Amino acid sequence: MEVQSKHIAIEKSTTTKIHEVDFNNLSFGSVYTDHMLVSDYKNGTWSVPKIIPYQPIALDPASKIFHYGQSIFEGMKAYKDPEGQVWLFRPKDNHARLNKSAERMAIPELPQEYFMEGLTTLLELEKDWIPQSPGSSLYVRPFMFASGTGLHASPADEYKFLIALAPSGAYFSGKVKVLIEETYARAANGGVGYAKAGGNYAAQFYPTKLATDQGYQQVIWTDDHNHEYIEEAGAMNIFIRINDTLLTAPTSDRILDGITRKSILELAEDMGIETEVRKIKVSEVVEAAENGALKEMFGAGTAAVISPISAFGYKGEEYVLPELEHSYASTLKTKITDIQYNRAEDKFGWRYRVC
Ligand SMILES: *Cc1c(COP(=O)(O)O)cnc(C)c1O
Repeated sequence: MEVQSKHIAIEKSTTTKIHEVDFNNLSFGSVYTDHMLVSDYKNGTWSVPKIIPYQPIALDPASKIFHYGQSIFEGMKAYKDPEGQVWLFRPKDNHARLNKSAERMAIPELPQEYFMEGLTTLLELEKDWIPQSPGSSLYVRPFMFASGTGLHASPADEYKFLIALAPSGAYFSGKVKVLIEETYARAANGGVGYAKAGGNYAAQFYPTKLATDQGYQQVIWTDDHNHEYIEEAGAMNIFIRINDTLLTAPTSDRILDGITRKSILELAEDMGIETEVRKIKVSEVVEAAENGALKEMFGAGTAAVISPISAFGYKGEEYVLPELEHSYASTLKTKITDIQYNRAEDKFGWRYRVC
């Protein structure tokens, strides 16, 4: 389906909230720009997206999102370089993953043209909202859900696709302590772990609360079978450095295929860092921590980019990671953000110019 951006109607807001925002003191995803993108799926097709003032959505109480949870999302960022040019990072991969999530949740797929034209038109309109202070960006939240009604447990016949934008500072400040999970599971074989489906996150809140009560900020999920292997964090893939080798678990139907993860793997290989994509036993990480071979652990995802881990808890013990002067985490973070913010050559072709 071919769509031109000039087909995307824009209803401009008569007011702006931009002057109320302290751009040097932004938290993550808590203020939204003046406009949003909306497309409706009705009678078997998605409507050409339109841009309207940011506003609440009215939904019928029988909308299936409320009852059966057909809901998916994406997370990406728009960056502004010192010349004021606006960039995205591998946005077509986000679109592909949105449709992968949609398929799994029996939600109709969205044409790539609607996603890309809609997103770039919205970003061009809202470019003044993209913060330029270090580590900050405009967080982009595309999402889709069942607006169609009926209490029968079956897929809805109507859906909505929206994009909201939130100027944001850095996601985490400082290093995080994580708890390796021994009881609960995030995902199961044959399940929906690989999809960015809303319910995957709701299901983590309770075990994560139990972890925060013990002084940990995040849970490291392990396999649902017998909690023997490291999988990933709540919204981040996990990397582990043992001696000089960088390890991460293979993606599967339980592990989300992160764009940051795959970019880090390519960058690390390009830098000559030895990488291994394989199943990682918790016992192997504990042993490495005990004998000094464990050098680093970090999370990788769009929001935080790279989130270094200072310690992990497991079976009532706490294992503290060393403080390194030249960590893979900081080197890789610099490499990836230099590409994202147009500070370095992009030999992989990951950067996408918006305007
Ligand atoms: C979004 C997400 C990631 C990271 O994906 P990116 O594309 O790098 O942002 C990793 N794990 C889970 C569970 C996620 O939801």
